[in-house]
Amino acid sequence: MLCERCKRRPAVNEMVINEDGVPVTRKLCRTCAFEVMTGYVPVVKRCPTCQMTQHALRQTRKAGCTTCYTVFRDDLLKMTRQYQQGHDHHVGSIPNLLRTPDERIEERLVKLAGELEQAVEQEDYERAARIKKEMIQLKGQGEA
Ligand SMILES: [Zn+2]
Ligand SMILES: [Zn+2]
Repeated sequence: MLCERCKRRPAVNEMVINEDGVPVTRKLCRTCAFEVMTGYVPVVKRCPTCQMTQHALRQTRKAGCTTCYTVFRDDLLKMTRQYQQGHDHHVGSIPNLLRTPDERIEERLVKLAGELEQAVEQEDYERAARIKKEMIQLKGQGEA
């Protein structure tokens, strides 16, 4: 069994150490146990699969393997949150004006069709022409 911290020397001690404020049980070699106990070297989180360190992860902002997602879960979550916050203002910035309400155009067309019928009945061809023109414009908008 190799030391869980350095992965180089054989583990001799099992001890509870603090990793980012969370107590975890680790099997450590004599050197690491001493370093951790004395606080001489800070405990560095390291992925046991790809050897990615917390420091490297913060620089690259990319997980090295799937195990990293478990080891650096909190760090990755923090990064994702920061990233999303920085891009929040891009979401929902499309002006409402660009969203043509098709239903309203439909409604207007039906109303205009009624008016057109009326105008023709009254032999008001000038008005009928105006209504027809408006209807064509509205249909163009609906298709766009
Ligand atoms: Zn060690
Ligand atoms: Zn990894």
